[in-house]
Amino acid sequence: MNKTPRTPAELTELTVGLNRLARNLWWTWNQEAQEIFQELSPRGWQNLYHNGVAVLHEVSDYELRVRFQDADFAHRVRDVLKTFDDYLKDPQTWGDQNAPALKKNPVAYFSMEFGFHETLPIAAGGLGILAGDHAKSASDLGIGFMGISLFYRQGYFQQSFNQDNWQTEYYTLLNPKNLPMEPVLNARGEPVVCSMRIAMSEVYFQAWRVNVGRNTVYLLDTNRPENEQHYRDLTLRVYGGDSSTRIMQEMLLGVGGVRLLRALGAQPSVFHMNEGHAAFLTLELIREKISAGRSFTEALTATKTECLFTTHTPVEAGHDRFSLDLMGYVANIFQSQLKLTLDELMALGRVNPNDKNESFCMTVLALKMSRSANGVSELHGQVSRQMWHALFPDKQVEEVPIGHITNGVHLLCWMKGPLRRYWRRKLNFHSDSDPHQPLSGDTTTLLRKKPAVPWDAKINSPEFWARMADPDFISDEELWALRYKLRRELIEFTRRRLLIQGQRLTQGDFIAFDQLLNPDALTIGFARRFATYKRAPLIFQQFHSIVKLVHDKQRPVQFIYAGKAHPRDDEGKRFIQHIIHLSKHSELEGKLVFIENYDVHVARQMVSGCDVWLNNPRRPLEASGTSGMKAGCHGCLNLSILDGWWREGYDGTNGFAIGGDSHPDSVEEQDRRDSENLYRALTEEVIPTFYNRDATGIPRQWIQKIRRAMVTLVPQFNTWRMVQEYAQKYYCTK
Ligand SMILES: *Cc1c(COP(=O)(O)O)cnc(C)c1O
Repeated sequence: MNKTPRTPAELTELTVGLNRLARNLWWTWNQEAQEIFQELSPRGWQNLYHNGVAVLHEVSDYELRVRFQDADFAHRVRDVLKTFDDYLKDPQTWGDQNAPALKKNPVAYFSMEFGFHETLPIAAGGLGILAGDHAKSASDLGIGFMGISLFYRQGYFQQSFNQDNWQTEYYTLLNPKNLPMEPVLNARGEPVVCSMRIAMSEVYFQAWRVNVGRNTVYLLDTNRPENEQHYRDLTLRVYGGDSSTRIMQEMLLGVGGVRLLRALGAQPSVFHMNEGHAAFLTLELIREKISAGRSFTEALTATKTECLFTTHTPVEAGHDRFSLDLMGYVANIFQSQLKLTLDELMALGRVNPNDKNESFCMTVLALKMSRSANGVSELHGQVSRQMWHALFPDKQVEEVPIGHITNGVHLLCWMKGPLRRYWRRKLNFHSDSDPHQPLSGDTTTLLRKKPAVPWDAKINSPEFWARMADPDFISDEELWALRYKLRRELIEFTRRRLLIQGQRLTQGDFIAFDQLLNPDALTIGFARRFATYKRAPLIFQQFHSIVKLVHDKQRPVQFIYAGKAHPRDDEGKRFIQHIIHLSKHSELEGKLVFIENYDVHVARQMVSGCDVWLNNPRRPLEASGTSGMKAGCHGCLNLSILDGWWREGYDGTNGFAIGGDSHPDSVEEQDRRDSENLYRALTEEVIPTFYNRDATGIPRQWIQKIRRAMVTLVPQFNTWRMVQEYAQKYYCTK
């Protein structure tokens, strides 16, 4: 039945198909597609950092044609292409049934950053990751969705360290030809170029399309020959430059984004601002209506019915504020277009329109211009209502119109490859809804069957994860074996990375990297941006007690850290320096390691291999947090302050809490208490439960917690649920 392709037409079809596949990020959440790229060039796959497009450039067309003579390989390629096409064409999506109006008039989702995959490093952190996961789930659900962001040709920085363990930054140039993106062209095959006024100049920009399953995310790019060099460099780096770069980038995102959509003929029904960065889009929408003859007030009222706003942080520095000077110079075009004085323009971004000392706040503009607004967890909703109460002086705090939708993650993207296969096999072998199950482990048979409910729907369903409570479905032994496999993979990954890091610095000193870390030890992970409110070094306040814990022969504990500090955040850099110093020059050496250059790939390794995911932000500043949500499907348990999502997720049985559902006003007091509570949870709950083994060596209670985490957290804290909630609460209602 495995017919060898021989005709030139067949060979061309497969070659074209594979190229099309590489340029759609769908392959980043399809295991079989990734395995095809990997098999084509295993070394290239590794060296080019899992980049399907770059791998195809490694392999000549001639080689491809020869490789397709391998009947099994050709067959698998055809299977994947069929699955891909079925996915793209599926007429029965959730969106078709629940949000059909968005097909014609989609959601336009604006975000300063999108974190899709390690090959396209244009995100700085959680905000971008969330946007990427939102786009992927909007595609899976079949929701009409277009994304807008910027193409940063140097991306976000790469992290390195000098001899003093001080973070240094360097940038690499991204080459669009080698990335899963394509230029946006007009009917004549030329780039679509739009322009807008910034300060005294007309600035031109083109766009790149990133195919995210069924949907497109457009990345704007000012690197055009028409522009002066400093405008060409406007889109050089994520959050690069100073506040004048920032305001210009935000004008490009907001105004430029709307112009591009119009140039493409798009008529979105909703403009969703992911964070205040995008809020200038509202001024462009008003301008459009004024040029169509409406008054400013009419235009404003009409614009407000089209816009939604999601706020992402209670941290003050997370809310962009621009001075009168910047607004009057860089953004002065808004005055003439909207026929406003500078003071009237400023008033749109002020809590108190009459306060001449207030700067222009993008969050305030977004809140004033939206029909609905939301925070990203229940607690963050409350905090935001308080924070912005002054904007709604005639309302009680509880009535401030900011709701909440708790964040999620795109499950399949965060699931480690082998685990996708594992859960898939579990689904296919044991699903009640599909009685015609194949009985052997022949995965090719599995792949050829099109199940009634698609795999991405099943893997997100509460029904599937509910089965994790059942020892007949999955035994303690099997779960424990899985945990061991994933922990070992992480430790070997870490050893490899530390070898590379160490080669640069130790210059010949012998370090036994292959003995670093203990594959049997309770492994605690911490990785996120090193924003100071996240308090990365908190646990080391109890230094001497922690030293005892890591050296306990019977019940050892070890720590893996990773994360980047913003290039201008010296306090965050000091945190990293401190941790690296401890990892090299204290009694924690060998029991604490820091992996450099945290990114999506490192995150995936860590959340899958660690036993415990540590999160100790200063409450209530972690609006949601998402890295802990990536842990559940791998059987990694959360140990976290009851802030953000964990305050909703934790139920007493599915992980561990640090402290209670309240916090003192004093920051010093909070830090002191949290550090004690963290140590107490660790020594009284986490370590004893992990090491409490029965006669056969299995930690039954620990595994019970893993089961509870899978049942209660995984189907809840994902973007499949989150995007449905956005659609039902916000996108489809006026
Ligand atoms: C998930 C993720 C984040 C967000 O983590 P938080 O817990 O929300 O801080 C940041 N960066 C990367 C690379 C991630 O994968």
